[in-house]
Amino acid sequence: MEVYTQELPMRTSRRVELIDITSMVTGVLESSGIRNGILNVFSRHSTSAIFINENESRLLSDIESMLEGAVPVDASYGHNIIDNNADSHLRAVLLGGSQTVPVINGSMDLGTWQSIFFAEFDGPRNRRIRVSVAGKP
Ligand code: ZN
Repeated sequence: MEVYTQELPMRTSRRVELIDITSMVTGVLESSGIRNGILNVFSRHSTSAIFINENESRLLSDIESMLEGAVPVDASYGHNIIDNNADSHLRAVLLGGSQTVPVINGSMDLGTWQSIFFAEFDGPRNRRIRVSVAGKP
């Protein structure tokens, strides 16, 4: 088994932003030379998340609305006493910080309507995403 890892730097531009990173992750997989195994995408930040879903603009707006409903920006949070971004952390908890995708014959085994997203909840910031691939060439 071989292991390949690469960091993807990213500059986000808004406080809340859902960014399709599928093509960037595909590039890492191609660089890895691994054809069968698993691929992990990991956000190295506690106010961002990684999720997999359909890249459809109205759905992405619906996801932002769902998160605003579940975790309103202006509710009363304990963490805001020391750092004014509790909503960002809580949204990150809801979506999770990583995703793992099977790699089959050189490609990620994503469904037709699945894309990999980086979710920014406390931007704009410089972010780092770690992509790791493990398997056989
Ligand atoms: Zn904080």
